[in-house]
Amino acid sequence: RRERALQVQIIRFAGNRRMVLSRDISKLQRLENMRRDFVANVSHEMRTPLTVVGGFLETLIDGLDDFSRDEVLHFLSLAHEQSSRMRHLIEDLLALSALETGAPAPLEEGVDVPALMQTVRREAESLSAGRHTVTLVLEGGGGLRGSARELHSAFSNLASNAVRYTPAGGHVELGWRVDAEGGEYWVRDDGIGIDPEHIPRLTERFYRVDRGRSRETGGTGLGLAIVKHILNRHQAVLRVDSEPGKGSRFSMRFPPARIGDES
Ligand code: ADP
Repeated sequence: RRERALQVQIIRFAGNRRMVLSRDISKLQRLENMRRDFVANVSHEMRTPLTVVGGFLETLIDGLDDFSRDEVLHFLSLAHEQSSRMRHLIEDLLALSALETGAPAPLEEGVDVPALMQTVRREAESLSAGRHTVTLVLEGGGGLRGSARELHSAFSNLASNAVRYTPAGGHVELGWRVDAEGGEYWVRDDGIGIDPEHIPRLTERFYRVDRGRSRETGGTGLGLAIVKHILNRHQAVLRVDSEPGKGSRFSMRFPPARIGDES
């Protein structure tokens, strides 16, 4: 049970009359706590790569002549990696805030799903760099009505997670099916899988099952939070089925009203 927070205000009138106003501010307080956690998380996420970059620069400043050209290059490329991480984090934060507060993108564009999936497949293959096989399954053509940019982002997010959480030699399947109940996009992998207790929390900002692994693969912990927002805006539902050590299947279901012609 959640505790309730009440704000009570007593207004006195002439004579001995009083009016008592009470307002339930539990929700305000919860929002305030969420905001505070969010700021703490963002600061922490930014500080880690900055510390690494700062450390490398300091080492170089203190003893540039002590290092060979190759060693200097090694430091610089590690620093470069960290700066890309910070850039990704900022891009994801901006995407989230645009989804939450910005002007809504048009949700009435016609998106050719099979063409989008070819693009997503190429992106996944490039991220995998030959370490996985990526296959496409198309059951029925069809298009989606929505924001092309947002749908691309949501589709890519699931595909890149599948590659990132599947060891080399694994298989990633991207699928699209249209039936009487609407359209379903799915991504199946035979990767590390997810323990059931984590599944309900995956779309929270910065929630990761394994922080180290997410970092190693360039994760920001914001991908699925962004996906969830995009799906809400398109009246779509995210579903996750997973078994640790066996793999996962992430899918998004779009209602019939969102299915249209390919154009
Ligand atoms: P991240 O940037 O950390 O990948 P996401 O929001 O995209 O953030 O995902 C949240 C967490 O969900 C990940 O850190 C990872 O633990 C888990 N996860 C997401 N997709 C998969 C997958 N296909 N297989 C296993 N774990 C996954």
